[in-house]
Amino acid sequence: MVIKPKVRGFVCVTAHPTGCAAHIQEQIDYVQRKGPIKNGPKSVLVIGASTGYGLASRITAAFGSGAKTLGIFFERPSEEGRTATPGWYNSIAVTNAARAAGLYAGNLNGDAFSDDIKRQALEMIARDMGPIDLVVYSLASPRRTHPKTGVVHKSVLKPVGKSFSNKTVDTDKGLVSDITIEPANEAEIADTTAVMGGEDWEMWMNALADAKLLAPGATSVAYSYIGPAVTWDIYKNGTIGLAKNDLERASKRIDALLKTHGYGRAFISVNKALVTQASSAIPVVPLYISILYKIMKAQGTHEGCIEQIQRLFATQMYNGSALKFDDAGRVRIDDWEMKPDIQEAVTRIWPTVTTENLAAQTDIAGYRSEFMRLFGFGLPGINYDAEVEPHVPMP
Ligand code: NAD
Repeated sequence: MVIKPKVRGFVCVTAHPTGCAAHIQEQIDYVQRKGPIKNGPKSVLVIGASTGYGLASRITAAFGSGAKTLGIFFERPSEEGRTATPGWYNSIAVTNAARAAGLYAGNLNGDAFSDDIKRQALEMIARDMGPIDLVVYSLASPRRTHPKTGVVHKSVLKPVGKSFSNKTVDTDKGLVSDITIEPANEAEIADTTAVMGGEDWEMWMNALADAKLLAPGATSVAYSYIGPAVTWDIYKNGTIGLAKNDLERASKRIDALLKTHGYGRAFISVNKALVTQASSAIPVVPLYISILYKIMKAQGTHEGCIEQIQRLFATQMYNGSALKFDDAGRVRIDDWEMKPDIQEAVTRIWPTVTTENLAAQTDIAGYRSEFMRLFGFGLPGINYDAEVEPHVPMP
């Protein structure tokens, strides 16, 4: 079958298996070019391992420090004549490359919020890996079925307390328009925290501790975002930001738990705004990313997920000295994004952007090509007119 992109709003409903494999290889090559991460992790669980920041974490652990990895993700597998979601093909490519390099790579495709997937993960870790020394929690999900109550919580991306009006861009059509989003109600705030907050991360860590599957000195990290004032009403001070506050609450409790396990640690890393399937669904943020990319590329400081995570591992987590925390106890790998000169340039460009000058004022072209690459399209060296088998089993 010849596989072409089919974009519907902020998703692409097809994915290209060889294109995804090429995207993975680029990330592996990057990590290997940067050289080994001394004293890196050896036995790693990545929850949300198939795309975006979790995928980059898995690749950095495996190919930067030779770690065994277990990846948990929730992807639609391929079928006869039907493509999978890209994370399925990504995970196949990572697994093949890791095993070719002699590294253990296990996968569990299912609902990470469920007791069943946690039980299966513990079994695989006990059987195949031994105690875990790094747990990366990198889920981005629109819903969570609570494992104890059965209630289905749905997250919303809304402001809190007041409505929010700003510019946004339809990245597919290239239209800049104004958007007004009404504030969330109490139930929506609680639901978003139930999905994107820290309760599930704590459940994972308690399950690992109870099963005695945490190595002495184990580390756990979850990812967050803060960003510039222009996005605060919808992000930092909105429903997702409140959920991230709960993630920070959980990080302190998990840190205390890990301290009892041979002086381990848990923390939040605040990462850069990047094109991923999760961020493309947030109003206003894609316009911000398009402006940010233009400025950071011109300055030579632009990074993608793999550059961010390789830098997090090499210069913070495993550099042989203590983590550098901000005033609130978070690691900031968004430091280059938040530099005053970068943010001043965003603030200057933001009010001037219109549909007519979008291409000149922002890196919308870069945004779009990055978005297509998430689905395996636009990679060099791939013949997109050639027949390719969409149905690929997990190895
Ligand atoms: P993403 O959409 O690329 O990845 C989400 C991952 O979660 C995928 O592996 C997916 O399969 C998995 N997943 C979703 N629901 C699941 C479920 N029920 N069970 C098992 N797996 C499930 O997202 P991302 O942008 O890489 O986000 C990861 C984390 O990084 C989030 O906490 C996000 O807030 C944070 N972050 C993202 C950005 C950004 O700009 N993209 C910036 C800073 C922080």
